[in-house]
Amino acid sequence: AKERGKNNYQFYTKEMTARSLERMTIERGLRHALLNNELLLHYQPQIDSSSGCIVSAEALVRWQHPEWGLVSPIRFISVAEETGLIVPIGIWVLRTACLQTKAWQENHGLLSQVAVNLSARQFLEHDLFETIKAVLEETGLNPSSLELEITESAVMQDPERTLAILQQLQELGIRLSIDDFGTGYSSLTYLRRFPVHSVKIDRSFVQDIPNDEGSMTLVRAIIALAHELKLDVTAEGVETEAQLAFLKTQQCDLLQGYLYSRPVTAAQLEIMGGEINGQ
Ligand code: C2E
Ligand code: CA
Ligand code: CA
Ligand code: CA
Repeated sequence: AKERGKNNYQFYTKEMTARSLERMTIERGLRHALLNNELLLHYQPQIDSSSGCIVSAEALVRWQHPEWGLVSPIRFISVAEETGLIVPIGIWVLRTACLQTKAWQENHGLLSQVAVNLSARQFLEHDLFETIKAVLEETGLNPSSLELEITESAVMQDPERTLAILQQLQELGIRLSIDDFGTGYSSLTYLRRFPVHSVKIDRSFVQDIPNDEGSMTLVRAIIALAHELKLDVTAEGVETEAQLAFLKTQQCDLLQGYLYSRPVTAAQLEIMGGEINGQ
């Protein structure tokens, strides 16, 4: 038994070493990526359920690594959050998305809004509000064209502090949405207390439509509650016609998912916008 214990210990340390080595490699690579313009944004269209037009898009970061190819945010966002690199990365994402959207609005009449993800870690920076305000001024994008997506867990880390920042953002005219809605704690409390404009129903609920009665009841209830509170509802992860049909009967406002489009490059979104909105 003694021997086995020892081997287990070695096994775990080896695995841990490999993991922390990978994290260190990613951290070093990310620092390099920021300096060398290896980050880029893809945009996933959000479709107005009544008009069928692309009215908004979510900006999703990617990393074009010279050897590893296109790296998914699932692989590097947590490292960026732990190391604090999410702060400069987040500013880069925000500036890039705002600049792009301003250009789309002026040259193509495309997108009344862009959605950008904010990590909990970014709320710990003392100047988050000033930074966002400065980016809007610098890029010329109207604050009402920017929607910030935050998760309930981000809010929960320091509710008082987060609330104060969210109030400043809302006074400036920025829209706030609760991302992955339904997966965190205290959803209802925060809906009432926080100055949010919309909720995004998590993909995990959408994917069970139309087979799981429980998920459908939940989605129906979330939409009804949100509308009662005068909030917009976006469904994420819409993949099938059956899901679309159900969400439409429930008057879900915006639809996002592979059924319409995967996240695409800015150039591809422009083409798609011209084709779909022009019809
Ligand atoms: P998220 O905010 O929940 O973003 C939605 C994710 O679902 C995206 O993954 C998107 O590609 C994927 N998705 C969209 N529609 C469908 C669908 O119909 N089916 C399926 N199976 N998946 C769908 P992605 O781009 O890999 O991003 C993963 C996560 O990384 C995001 O989840 C978000 O939490 C984080 N992330 C991405 N970009 C940023 C960023 O700029 N800042 C921060 N803080 N986080 C980011
Ligand atoms: Ca999101
Ligand atoms: Ca989400
Ligand atoms: Ca999600």
